Amino acid sequence: MKIVDIKTAVVAYHGKATLVRIDTDVGLSGFGEANPDAGAAAIVGLISELKHGLIGEDPRNVEHCWEKLRRSHVFAGPQGGIFLIALSGIEIALWDLAAKAAGQPLYRMLGGKFRDQVRLYADCGDGDDPSGSTEGCVARARRVVADGFTAIKFDIDDLSHPEKFDTANHTINGAELRSMVERVAAVRDAVGPGIDLCIDLHARYDVPSACRIAWAMEPFDLLWLEEPIPAENVDALRQVRARSRTPICVGENLYLRWGFRELLQQQAVDVIMPDVPKCGGLAESKKIANLAEIYYIPFAPHLVSTPLGTMATSHVCAAVPNFLVLEWHALEEREAWDSYVRAPNGARSIVKDGHIALSDAPGIGVELNMEGVRRHAVPGYGIFD
Ligand code: MG
Repeated sequence: MKIVDIKTAVVAYHGKATLVRIDTDVGLSGFGEANPDAGAAAIVGLISELKHGLIGEDPRNVEHCWEKLRRSHVFAGPQGGIFLIALSGIEIALWDLAAKAAGQPLYRMLGGKFRDQVRLYADCGDGDDPSGSTEGCVARARRVVADGFTAIKFDIDDLSHPEKFDTANHTINGAELRSMVERVAAVRDAVGPGIDLCIDLHARYDVPSACRIAWAMEPFDLLWLEEPIPAENVDALRQVRARSRTPICVGENLYLRWGFRELLQQQAVDVIMPDVPKCGGLAESKKIANLAEIYYIPFAPHLVSTPLGTMATSHVCAAVPNFLVLEWHALEEREAWDSYVRAPNGARSIVKDGHIALSDAPGIGVELNMEGVRRHAVPGYGIFD
C-alpha cells in the first residue's frame, strides 16, 4: 500500500478546523484532523508541501512517516507550533489508514483498551451569559450536569474586568478575585460536591496572583486550576505548585515529549493536558501519557476538535492507564459539531451522557458526513480537492 495524495478541507468550528485525507493506491483513505483555530491557512499550505515527503510511502509505517517529515524539516521549526499541528493531522490520518488496513479499531493498534468509554468534561466557557455573570455560569452548570456530565470547566479570567488597575500587567486585584470566588462558589453550590469542577485561567497571571487565586479556590475542591501562569517557565510553575493546595494543570500549548520532559522531571504540575491533534498526534500523546505515568501524574487531554479528532483522541484516552477526563468543547456549536460525522449505530451524536463510547469499527471508527462538511465548509479552502 502506498500513499498517492494528501488533501484537506476546512470547516467552521471554533474558528477553522482542518480535516486531512490521505489517499492510497489501493483505494483506501485515512482521515485526520489538525487542531483548529487561526492557523488553518498555514496548516493547509504546510500540508500541501509536506505531502511530497510521503508520496510513495507505506502509510502503515506510521512512526517512520512521522519522523521522516519531522527530521527532514529540522530547520523549518518542527519543534512546535503550526508545523507540529499540521504533522499531527497527518499522523492521525496515517493511524486511521493503518487501523483500517488491519481491520482493527484504533485503540487496538495502540495496545488495547483500559476502558470502553471515555469520560468527558464539558467546557462551559463563560456560562450562558456572554458577560460571564454568576447567574449565567450557574444556569450553564445546571444544564450540563442535567445532561449527564460529571465534570465541567469554567473560564473565570477576565481581561476586561472594569475594576482592573492596569490592563498590561499580570496582577490580580481584590475586586477581580472576589468576582472569581463568587462565580466558583455559586457553581459549586449549584452542582454539589459530586461533580468534578475545573477552572481555567489561560496563563494570564503572575506568580503571586496565581497563588492568591489558588488559595482562594481551596474551599471549592477543584479537580484542577488550569494554567494560572504561562507554561514555559517550569521553575515558576514549580513555585506555584509548591504553594498551592489546589491541583495545577498545564500543557495545552506544549509540544512533543520534550515539551513535557522538564515539567514532569521537576514535578511542576499535578495534571497534564496535551492537545492530541496539536502536540504531535496519537502515538506522541500516548508516549507523553506514559511518561506522566512514571510520576503518577494523570493525563487529561485538552481538545478543541470536531467529532473526528475527538473520536481519534478517545482511542488514546482508552489506551493509557492514567487517563482522567477529556475536554469536550462544543456546547455552543453543537449542531454543526454533530453534523461532521455519522455517529455509530445511527446515533445523533458520538457524545451521550457525558461520555464517548469507543467505536469498534476499523480505524478511528467514525466516517465523515460529507453533507455536514459541505454545509459548514469555510469558503476558499476547497473540500478535499
Ligand atoms: Mg485552557
